[in-house]
Amino acid sequence: MADYDVIVIGAGLGGLSSGAICASRGRKVLVLEQSDLVGGCCSTFEKEGYHFDIGASIVEVVDSLENAFAAMNTSLSDELDLVPCDPIYDYILKDGTRFQFPISVEETADVIRKVAPADAEAWPRFASYMKEFMALASDAVFGSPMVTMGDFARMFVKYPALLKFGELFTSSYEDVIKKWFKSSAMQQTTAYQAFYVGLPPELAAGVYALLGYSEHEGTYYPPGGMIQIPKAYQKVGERHGMEVRTGARVDRVLTRNRQVEGVVLADGTEITSKLVISNINAMTLYLKLIGEENLPWLARVGIKSYEPSMSVPMIYLGVDYKPELEAHHTLITRPLEEMDDYWYNIYKKGKLPDDMFSLMCWPTETDPSLAPEGHHVVNLIMTPGPYRLEGTDWDREKEAYIEKSIDFVSRTAMPGLKEHVKVAEISTPLDFERRLLHPEGAIYGLQQPTTATMVFRPSAKSKSIKGLYLSGASTHPGGGVPSAVGSGIIAADLIEKYE
Ligand SMILES: Cc1cc2nc3c(=O)[nH]c(=O)nc-3n(C[C@H](O)[C@H](O)[C@H](O)COP(=O)(O)OP(=O)(O)OC[C@H]3O[C@@H](n4cnc5c(N)ncnc54)[C@H](O)[C@@H]3O)c2cc1C
Repeated sequence: MADYDVIVIGAGLGGLSSGAICASRGRKVLVLEQSDLVGGCCSTFEKEGYHFDIGASIVEVVDSLENAFAAMNTSLSDELDLVPCDPIYDYILKDGTRFQFPISVEETADVIRKVAPADAEAWPRFASYMKEFMALASDAVFGSPMVTMGDFARMFVKYPALLKFGELFTSSYEDVIKKWFKSSAMQQTTAYQAFYVGLPPELAAGVYALLGYSEHEGTYYPPGGMIQIPKAYQKVGERHGMEVRTGARVDRVLTRNRQVEGVVLADGTEITSKLVISNINAMTLYLKLIGEENLPWLARVGIKSYEPSMSVPMIYLGVDYKPELEAHHTLITRPLEEMDDYWYNIYKKGKLPDDMFSLMCWPTETDPSLAPEGHHVVNLIMTPGPYRLEGTDWDREKEAYIEKSIDFVSRTAMPGLKEHVKVAEISTPLDFERRLLHPEGAIYGLQQPTTATMVFRPSAKSKSIKGLYLSGASTHPGGGVPSAVGSGIIAADLIEKYE
């Protein structure tokens, strides 16, 4: 008799949501998390009275969050408080032009008429095209398992209306955006989001161009910090008997004859189960925890063909003044071509940029209790940061990088910032690797070009090891808060179907 029905490795969103759903369906579930916090990239830590989100700073497209709660016979509104963030962005272009995009598509059109009149007509058409695609895709594409080519083909049979959007499956993100928008302002404000799937616009898959619209369906922040989202799934799971152990690193997945038998923790403890859900990076899972020697050759070749996703340095600032910001998110953006150029000529070459396109998150605008009274929290997500730096490393560079970034932001977006910083912390790509065991600090699991998307991503039901399931950013539908939760539903449903 095994110790547990299901063991989940990692208490990220994919792990907690899949574990909680399995528990609500009567299975005895244990979640093992190596760090002392749940939530992984979607978590929050405290320092000197300031509460900093480790990674994710907002959630948009909450359908999958709703669906995961519904699968446990409860609802998002009963379990989690989410406050809308409106405007979505305060944009600052290279020439200093500054404007905000509100949630409302119509009010956004008013802004576009002023800042990019050439695209004023295209915007409402783009929005309604992507709205229609999203209505279909949230179930057909992002909410469905993509285990076999049959699943992919069935998607079009079950949802023939998707054929109208065929070009999104065969084009790049950049192709889609350039087809719709002619002005640099619109191209960059709708293309930056390609980095939310970990690639520049030229390399990201066309289906993700919906991100330029999806934020207008609602962008939210949970009071108390992003950790409230994983905690909500933990709480519901625990009501159904799910156990969560922090400080418990899994070092091995035990297999016999390519069937899961359990796991071994870093302290040598062996825990048995015939079912394991992995919420960790799929390359680490297969190549280290299971071991190449236990994989069929095709699986070995397959998993080695992926690359870890991009990383990013994130700076956490506690400040003793109210920053002059207009929105939860301020985006210093650059022309689309410069984003692509940055990828090839700076990021890929292991260099650090002088000019940074960056995202500033101001969570205390939404929840002042995240900082001492009169103080604020500002998190800076700087340009993608290479894991390997040319001629140096992040531990040597980080203090100078914090200083340079604060200086850059003081000059371009938040005058006076430099004089008001009380606490400054950073997660470099190396720190993300140490904190969350993400190889090369990969913040979205694996890179996600078209060739590693949907059915081409590591499968939620392992094809080489029986009893092994995957949830989280490394499997379909990929990185991001809603996708990670969506992957949790898919893994739990597959277990229900096959086990
Ligand atoms: C800087 C940054 C900004 C982001 N911004 C946003 C945003 O604004 N909006 C958005 O939607 N998404 C954002 N994301 C992406 C989003 O946060 C992630 O894609 C999502 O949270 C990943 O969830 P996951 O289920 O893959 O688990 P992860 O968050 O990857 O968690 C995996 C967990 O497994 C644990 N673990 C690893 N190895 C082991 C082991 N051997 N044993 C036990 N436990 C282990 C880790 O400690 C971690 O807690 C951001 C991510 C980062 C890093």
